[in-house]
Amino acid sequence: MAKTAKKRRGLAVKQELDLPVRLGQTVEVEITGLNHEGAGVGRVDGYTLFVQGALAGERVRARVEHVKKSYGFAALLDVIEASPHRDQPPCPVFDRCGGCSLQHLAYEEQLRHKQQIVKDNLRRIGGFPVEGEGAVVVHPTIGMSDPWRYRNKAQVPIGEENGALVGGFYAERSHEIVDMDECLIQHPANDEAVAAVKRIAARLGIPPYDEVRHTGLLRHVVAKVGARTGEVMVVLVTTEDFIPQREMLIESIRAQVPGVTSIVQNVNPEKTNVIFGKKTVTLWGSDVIYDYIGPIKFAISARSFYQVNPVQTEVLYNKTLEYAGATGTETVIDAYCGIGTISLFLAQKSRHVYGVEIVPEAIADANRNAELNGIANVTFETGPAEVVIPAWKDQGIRPDVIVVDPPRKGCDEALLTTILQMKPQRVVYVSCNPSTLARDLKVLAELYEVKEVQPVDMFPHTGHVESVALLVKRGAEH
Ligand code: SAH
Repeated sequence: MAKTAKKRRGLAVKQELDLPVRLGQTVEVEITGLNHEGAGVGRVDGYTLFVQGALAGERVRARVEHVKKSYGFAALLDVIEASPHRDQPPCPVFDRCGGCSLQHLAYEEQLRHKQQIVKDNLRRIGGFPVEGEGAVVVHPTIGMSDPWRYRNKAQVPIGEENGALVGGFYAERSHEIVDMDECLIQHPANDEAVAAVKRIAARLGIPPYDEVRHTGLLRHVVAKVGARTGEVMVVLVTTEDFIPQREMLIESIRAQVPGVTSIVQNVNPEKTNVIFGKKTVTLWGSDVIYDYIGPIKFAISARSFYQVNPVQTEVLYNKTLEYAGATGTETVIDAYCGIGTISLFLAQKSRHVYGVEIVPEAIADANRNAELNGIANVTFETGPAEVVIPAWKDQGIRPDVIVVDPPRKGCDEALLTTILQMKPQRVVYVSCNPSTLARDLKVLAELYEVKEVQPVDMFPHTGHVESVALLVKRGAEH
C-alpha cells in the first residue's frame, strides 16, 4: 500500500515538474474557445487550461488551481482584454452559484456557441462535414425571446447559519448553503413559494436540517409550477414524519403562497445528498398539479420527471414531430420515453406509438397521461430500450419512425444495432449531449443520411446543449 502510494506521489510530482505550469502560479492566457461546460479554453506553452468565466477572444490573468497530465483548471483573476460579447451578469451571485455558467456572454452569442458545439462534435467525433457541399446542416440554435424566469421547478436545500434558517444553493464545489430568495432563471411563482415557506418555517421554529450532524427536520423545499395553469405545488422534504405545528404550517402556506393547489411532504431519513426519500404524503389539496405542452395535458406529481423549460419543450417537440414526418398512418417507436411526453405528442399524428422507458414510475405516469388526454393509440412498456425494442422486432412490429431521447451517455450499442436491423424510414435523435449524439450518428450513418440538426436552447445561461437530428434512410425520399 505505502509503496504504491509513494510511487504514485512520485509520479504526480514528476508529472507536475514536466508541465509548463505549476499549481498556484499566475499565468496570462489567450482564450480561444469555450468548452461544453461554458469554461474558457486557452493554452500555455501547448498545455490546455480551462478558465471558468473567461470568454473566447479574451486575454485573462488566472491562477492555476488544479493540474492533470494533459490539462488543468485555473481561476479567473482579471480580464485584461475583454470580449465585445461580454455582458455584465445580472445575477448578484453568479460567481458563487455555478448554476449558470454563461450569464456573462451575450444571449445571441450563447446561441451561436451552442450551434458551434454541435458542429464541432459532429465533425470531430462523428467525422461529418459541417461546412460546404454535402455538409450536415446544423441550424442556428432556436433561443427564447425572453431567456429568463423559465424554470418550472425549484429544489432548494435548507440549512442553518448562525442560528437562523437559510435556503438557497450550495456554494460551488462545497456543501455550504448560500441563502438566496431570487433566482433569475426561476419562475417567479417558485421563488415566491420557497421564500414564503422559509419565512413560515423560521417563524414556527421548524428545525432546519444539519447535514453534518444529520439532525433537524426540514431538508429541502421543492416548488413546482404549471406554467400554463398557474398551479403551484409545494413539497417539504423532511427527515421524519412528525412535523411540529403541522396545521399552522399548512394554513400559512395556503394563505401566503399564491396559486398553491398542492402541499406534499416527502420523508427522507437517510444520510444522503439524494433529495427525495421513499415516502410521499399529501398534506393538503391535490396529489398533482397540471400543465400543458401544446395541446397535451400532463399531471405532475412530487416525484415525477417533467421537462423544466415548458416553452422550449414545446419548440423541441414540435421539431421532433416535424422531423418524424408523421401523417397519421405511421407506426412510431419512442425510445427513452420518460413520462410519455414525446409519445403523446407523436400520437396525435400517427397510427400507433410504442414508448419504452426503464423507470416503472415514469411508465405509470405515461399511462395516466395518455388516459388524461383520451389518447388510446399508445402502448407503453417498462424496461431497457435495448432489450424491449429487439423483442418488439421479434413480435413483428415494423416502425416507420424511431425516435430516441437517451440520457447523456447516449444510446446503448445494442439499440443502434437493432435500429439498423429494423430499418425504419426515419430516425429522429433528440440529444442532451452533442458528443454522444455525434458518436451514435456515426454508427447510424451506415444506413442513414443525417439530413439536418436543430439545436434548441432548453437551458439559457447554462452550458447545456440540446438538439434534435433528422436521419433518413438512404435511397428513401426525404
Ligand atoms: N423523452 C422524455 C425523457 C428523456 S430523458 C422527455 O422528453 O421527457 C431520458 C430517459 O431515458 C429517462 O427517463 C431515463 O429514465 C430513461 N432511460 C435511461 N436508460 C434507459 C434505457 N436503457 N432504456 C430505456 N430508458 C432509459
